[in-house]
Amino acid sequence: MPLQPIDQFAKELNPEVNAAIHKATKGRIEGRKNVLFGDFPEANKLREWAGELKRHTISHLDEYLEQTVTKMESNGVQVHFASTVESARTQIVDIYKKNGVTRFCKSKSMVTEELDMRGLMEENDIEVWESDLGEFVVQLDNDHPSHIVTPIIHKNKRQVAETFKQHGLGEYTEDPQTLTRQARKFLREKYLSSTGTMSGGNFVSAESGRVVVVTNEGNCRFGLAGAKVYIAVVGIEKIIPTDEDLTLYLNLLARSSTAQHWSVYTEFMSGPRSENQPEGPEQMHVVFVDNGRTETLASDCREALHCIRCGACLNVCPVFRQASGHAYRHTYPGPIGAVLAPNLVGKEGFPELADLPKASSLCGACNEVCPVNIPIPDLLLKLRYRGKEANAPMSKISAPPMGAWSTMASSPTAWSLALKGGHLMNVFPKSMVPVPSMQTWLKDRTLPAWQGGQFRKWLKQRKKADRSEV
Ligand code: SF4
Repeated sequence: MPLQPIDQFAKELNPEVNAAIHKATKGRIEGRKNVLFGDFPEANKLREWAGELKRHTISHLDEYLEQTVTKMESNGVQVHFASTVESARTQIVDIYKKNGVTRFCKSKSMVTEELDMRGLMEENDIEVWESDLGEFVVQLDNDHPSHIVTPIIHKNKRQVAETFKQHGLGEYTEDPQTLTRQARKFLREKYLSSTGTMSGGNFVSAESGRVVVVTNEGNCRFGLAGAKVYIAVVGIEKIIPTDEDLTLYLNLLARSSTAQHWSVYTEFMSGPRSENQPEGPEQMHVVFVDNGRTETLASDCREALHCIRCGACLNVCPVFRQASGHAYRHTYPGPIGAVLAPNLVGKEGFPELADLPKASSLCGACNEVCPVNIPIPDLLLKLRYRGKEANAPMSKISAPPMGAWSTMASSPTAWSLALKGGHLMNVFPKSMVPVPSMQTWLKDRTLPAWQGGQFRKWLKQRKKADRSEV
C-alpha cells in the first residue's frame, strides 16, 4: 500500500525547509515556557479556567451570537452571516463593489485563507495586499501559509531575500531589518491608496460587540486609518462573553503563541467612526463565517472550536516539525488542524483528510501546551474511529513498521507469538530483520533490550497464588 499523503510529504520535505521549521519551533517552545510560567507560576490553572470559559461559551453560542449582533448593530456595525464559503465570498465582494473599493490591504487572518481571499479578489479585479510581513511573502510567492501564527515558518532569510529581489522591492540583502524596510516602503503606498481594509478577529466580545485583533506590526491599525470600508471576517466561534474575559485570553495568547508578555498592538473595533472622529472607516461590516463550524459544534469534536489559534500545539508537535504545515493540505495545520480540518470539510471531504488524525503518536504534548486545554489526543482518537467507521482508505495504516505492527496487534495469536519471540531481537543483529524498511527504520534507532513477554506468565502465577490463599 502506498504511503499516506502526510507521510509522503514528510518523506519528500526539502531538508532546508525542515531545518527552518525546527529552528523556529525550538525557540518558540522554550520562550513560551519561560514567559508563561515565569509570569504565572500557576499557568496550568489559567489554562483550565480559559478552557472552561470556552466550553461555557461554545455551549451557549446561539445566545452569545444573538447578544453580539444586537450590540454590534446598536454600535452601527453592519452584520452579515455566511453559512458557506460561497456565501461569504459573494457577500464580501458585494460590499466592496457596492462601495467602489478597488484596492485594499488586509491583515493576517486564517478564516480569510479558508475563503481564498486573494484568489477571490483576483477573479473580481479587486487588488488586495497582505500587510502582515509573513503573509506578504506568501502572497509574492503565490504560496500558502504553513503555520497559524508564523505563515513563512518554512522559509529562511535567503528565500525571502530572493523573493524581494525578484519582485523588485530592492537590492538583494539577507539583513532582516533591511528586508522589513523594503516591504514597509512598498506597502505604505498601498495603504495610502486603499479605500478598503479587512481583518480577521481574534476575539469578539458579546458584551460590547467589539472585534479584537492582535498584531505585532501595527498593520491592522494602518489599514484602518485610511480606509472608508472595513470588513472583519470572523469565525462564529470567536465570541467570548465579556470584555473582562479578554484579560485572560490576551494574556494566554501572546505568551503561548510568540512568547511575548503582550502582543505589540491590540486593536478594539466597536463600529464605524463617529462624527467627532477625524479618521477611521465610514462603514464597518462583520461577516460571521460558519463553514462547517455548526456541524463541528454538533459533533463529538466540538472542543476543537475552543481554539484561539496560538500555534503552540504546532510548535511542540514532532509530526508538524517533520512534515511541515503544507502536509496537512488545509488552512489549519498541526495537531489542531488534524482535528479541525477533517471536521470543517464535512462528511464529503472527510475521507480525503482521514489520514491526518492518524499522524500522531498521541504523546499529549499538544494538550499540555494548549492555552485553552483542548484534549487534542482524545479528539484525534474520535476521528480515527470515525475514519474506521467510514472505511476511509486514508484512515488505514499503510507503511511498515506500523502496518506490520497493526496486523500483529489486531490478532491475539500473532500478538502472543510476537511477545514470546521478542527476546530474539536481543540476539540477532539488526541486519537480520527480514523486512528491508524495518532495517532502514532501525538504522537510526537504538532500541532498549527486550524485556517483555512476561506479563501473562506473571498474571497466571498471581491468579494461582491468589486462589491458593483463598
Ligand atoms: S489548539 Fe490550543 S495550542 Fe493549538 S492553536 Fe489552538 S489554542 Fe493554540
